[in-house]
Amino acid sequence: MNFPFRPLLRSMLVFTFAALSACASPSIKPDTRERHPLLLISIDAFRPDYLDRNLTPTLASMVTEGAHAPYMLPSFPSLTFPNHYTLVTGRVPDHHGIVNNTMSDPALGRFSLSNRSATSDGRWWDGAEPIWVTAQKQGLRTATMFWPGTEASIRGMRPDHWIAYDGDITSNGRVDQLLAWIDEPGKKPMFDTLYFDTVDHAGHEHGPDSPEVNAALVDVDAALARLVAGLKARGLYDRMDIIVLSDHGMAYLPPDHVIFADDIADVTQLDEVSYGVMATFNLREGSGSAKAEAALLAPHEHMQCYRKGDLPARFQYGTHPRVPAIICMAQTGWTIVSHAGLAKRTSPMSLGEHGYDNQDPTMRALFVARGPSFQPGATIAPFPNVDVYPLMIHLLGIHGESNDGHFDEVKDALRPAAR
Ligand code: AMP
Ligand code: ZN
Ligand code: ZN
Repeated sequence: MNFPFRPLLRSMLVFTFAALSACASPSIKPDTRERHPLLLISIDAFRPDYLDRNLTPTLASMVTEGAHAPYMLPSFPSLTFPNHYTLVTGRVPDHHGIVNNTMSDPALGRFSLSNRSATSDGRWWDGAEPIWVTAQKQGLRTATMFWPGTEASIRGMRPDHWIAYDGDITSNGRVDQLLAWIDEPGKKPMFDTLYFDTVDHAGHEHGPDSPEVNAALVDVDAALARLVAGLKARGLYDRMDIIVLSDHGMAYLPPDHVIFADDIADVTQLDEVSYGVMATFNLREGSGSAKAEAALLAPHEHMQCYRKGDLPARFQYGTHPRVPAIICMAQTGWTIVSHAGLAKRTSPMSLGEHGYDNQDPTMRALFVARGPSFQPGATIAPFPNVDVYPLMIHLLGIHGESNDGHFDEVKDALRPAAR
């Protein structure tokens, strides 16, 4: 049948559909949401069940007044630098390149937390763009009171305000420094970070169930209370979105739970990259190295070694060139050492560790968020920590980089008007 109006009808339908889908699609809808400064706070190694100790009233009030998840899943490996960079890039460590706290790279040499020239060398961090760089490129100011990566110039940029990591600055001192930056005249920072590590230190030295961890919880909560008071005095507390989270949890490590890698294999035939919860090695030419590799890959009690390409898929780990050829993972609550390494140790063995299987319940991380964008009283389902990045990109109203996260998994933490 001839239907002369069909082309017109079709274009009307197409137009109507396009208009409707523009309304339905958040990417096309004009974004008229009010923008609020965003403060991202990390309490290193704060296990979410620490909240139940009733030692952190400030954090507890943020849970009541804001949104939270029972826990957030860290990325593998459940270590500080890999996870902090995941939080600010949305990429798993295998995709951003900070694959361990201790790494080696054929072009850059060795990386460790105590090696300042490495931690401040942007080439290590260049595999992804952290949110402070992206925000600055789009005209926002940033202030970071410690966060791994903030002391490096990454893709030519550092945060507007930052200082080199100094573990001697107290939790309160860190809060005061951030408030001083906020007070500076001129354009205010829209993205800020704070980082506390007393809970991590106490967890390693004394174990997660120690009075020392409890004292560290009190210390960090007091710093949060000081922050809240400081923001209230400036009329900012209810105008700022605040996310408080951790990078991973902490497991008890009994003193005798050590695995000697050199009792299992002739590790002198391998290039050692790291020891500890995750022991990693590169291979050398020759049969000695192959024999040592085979010895490690055989089944062992409390330790499982893999070739980098053979790790279970759920770890999302093993493709980056910086991941060494062999990865040995200790069972949760165990650690991998060598006799020589143990003899050289100057500090006592840890009674707490992390870096284990990221799905182990002891490795779970904290997620609490409050502020004008967050839904008071919301409890959202546990989610992987790659999702924090798209959430922050959404809150800041900037264009993000490609990442492994999903905004949909965390959007219920927001008030409907802020979604
Ligand atoms: P780990 O427990 O081995 O994953 O490392 C965590 C420790 O790294 C923290 O307790 C801090 O002492 C330390 N740390 C945190 N940020 C930095 C930094 N930017 N540079 C050097 N060390 C840091
Ligand atoms: Zn940590
Ligand atoms: Zn730690």
